[in-house]
Amino acid sequence: MEVMIVICVSVVCVLLYSFHKKNVEYIKKNSICLNKILNLNSRQNFNVFDTSQTFCKNCNSKPQYDNFNINNYMNGIIDENLDKYIKTLEVLKHNRKQHTSYQNQFNSIMNYNYNYNQLTQNTILNEFLFKALEKIECEKIKLKPALEFTIYVSVFYTSPKGKNRYNKRYQINSGNIEYYCNECLKARRYKQSAKYQRALMTDKLRYQVLCRDGHRCVLCGASARDGVKLHVDHIIPVSKGGKTELSNLRTLCERCNLGKGSSYNPNGYN
Ligand SMILES: [Zn+2]
Repeated sequence: MEVMIVICVSVVCVLLYSFHKKNVEYIKKNSICLNKILNLNSRQNFNVFDTSQTFCKNCNSKPQYDNFNINNYMNGIIDENLDKYIKTLEVLKHNRKQHTSYQNQFNSIMNYNYNYNQLTQNTILNEFLFKALEKIECEKIKLKPALEFTIYVSVFYTSPKGKNRYNKRYQINSGNIEYYCNECLKARRYKQSAKYQRALMTDKLRYQVLCRDGHRCVLCGASARDGVKLHVDHIIPVSKGGKTELSNLRTLCERCNLGKGSSYNPNGYN
């Protein structure tokens, strides 16, 4: 008896399944919505990329763990790969923009009413069943592009004998990543500014240059003993992108320096 029931149920299942499969195949062939969506899909060019990234930071001490500063940590990470993150944000924005338009077109296709009577003629499907199955098939092929990018930072500390373990996790979304990128760009711009290069010219550095050059003008050899005032000069002027670093600095007397002004010949003698 039980065997009979199992066999009957199995047969019914198989029949139902083949019935369903047949209907789905029919819909795939005849659904106007499904074809429109396939066509819509073929016109999309969503970007594919890793939607998350995880960093782990192991602290050496409890104070280091307690004082962990996520802003400083993120600034470092973004600074190391600024171009990569800017690119990721760009492709993300492209996906979001295109997805809004895709979603609207998808919905308008789904709301499109056409004459189902003709399609359901000569089939066991009625309009309700056709629409329901059609909706399922359309949802199945709906594109799901990446719309968010997240960075996870896990911070750990384990006490020397493994007695205590601590961990915390930060989640940084694309909005925050954009903020860090902008801050990083601002900092880089400032570092390239003449203002920053001038601020680097400290008394200590000045003294280092004078000592290295023997307290003499490197062009005419005059020193303070000859009654001249010594200047520390940028070989490539700051206004032309010169850096405040030993290799770009030299001692000049006032006369030589004023004569030089802010001129610089990249191929000649300066
Ligand atoms: Zn001189």
